[in-house]
Amino acid sequence: MRDTLPLLDAIPFPAIARGRLGTLQVNLGYRCNQSCVHCHVNAGPNRTEEMTGDIVDLVLTVIERRAVATLDVTGGAPELNPHFRRLVRGARSHGVHVMDRCNLTILSEPGQEDLADFLAAEQVEIIASMPCYLADNVERQRGKGVFDGSIRGLKRLNALGYGRDENLVLNLVYNPQGPSLPPPQAALEADYKRILGETHGVVFDNLFVLANMPIQRFGSMLVSKGEFDGYLQLLQHAHLDANLDGVMCRGMISVDWQGYLYDCDFNQMLDLPLARGGKARAHLTDLLADDLDGNPVRVAGHCFGCTAGQGSSCGGALKDAAE
Ligand code: SF4
Ligand code: SF4
Repeated sequence: MRDTLPLLDAIPFPAIARGRLGTLQVNLGYRCNQSCVHCHVNAGPNRTEEMTGDIVDLVLTVIERRAVATLDVTGGAPELNPHFRRLVRGARSHGVHVMDRCNLTILSEPGQEDLADFLAAEQVEIIASMPCYLADNVERQRGKGVFDGSIRGLKRLNALGYGRDENLVLNLVYNPQGPSLPPPQAALEADYKRILGETHGVVFDNLFVLANMPIQRFGSMLVSKGEFDGYLQLLQHAHLDANLDGVMCRGMISVDWQGYLYDCDFNQMLDLPLARGGKARAHLTDLLADDLDGNPVRVAGHCFGCTAGQGSSCGGALKDAAE
């Protein structure tokens, strides 16, 4: 795979600083039951990196110490980590809102038959990738059989009240198939709701529309096809300064499976650690004594993926979110 970091680091991006910490996004490991083409963490069934029980304990201590409002759990398929349910229960017992980046097909994996019931019982918000409402487009990006498995997962969640009950929030995530900007979020959400409702009887709360990041598998593919520079120019030309206030690194810290800190998940995948004081690589243990407010964010060319057009954050388009 081609490394896009040297190309991205050569592209200047406006300086930004961290604000107050609201969300801890924790990557429980890179193991996944899928291997999607666009996956920015290169996750798959053969990855072995996994957060240990000791680091999970540290996450729970930091959540309490820093009064973190939201725990955002990601992977890989985070549910495959043996400490996933303990982490969720621990955070919920402190009144923390928990979000699970769930790939939907995990809900029917052997050994995970009771996962949907667990998520509903803990009122975990689900964020599920669904790059299209058409089977062909989903399977081109996420693999054969993934569309049907995803629809089965959505129906299971709907049957438990997800997408219907205000405490059981189900959000889908769209990203374009190739090197283009995503379409307007509100119009696409209306299409998704109509088509998934009419053809599969599926309901959900919100559709988050995200631009593809020019890193990892997707970035490497752009380089191989000679499309990297064109895509970066597209993102740069669509950059809006107004989106800088809403980028997710302002209020979120990303934690890797070993407990090291990053300004966001993308920086984690590029191995651009959060530096603090004289330390090149801050760790969860640093968060026990320090909230990192005001720390400069480690930016590079990929950040235009967050500020182009309607903008992208973990909550979808920034422009729509602000309206
Ligand atoms: S389901 Fe998510 S984590 Fe797993 S390979 Fe696909 S994009 Fe990566
Ligand atoms: S890529 Fe990460 S560091 Fe850059 S603007 Fe987006 S959230 Fe912030």
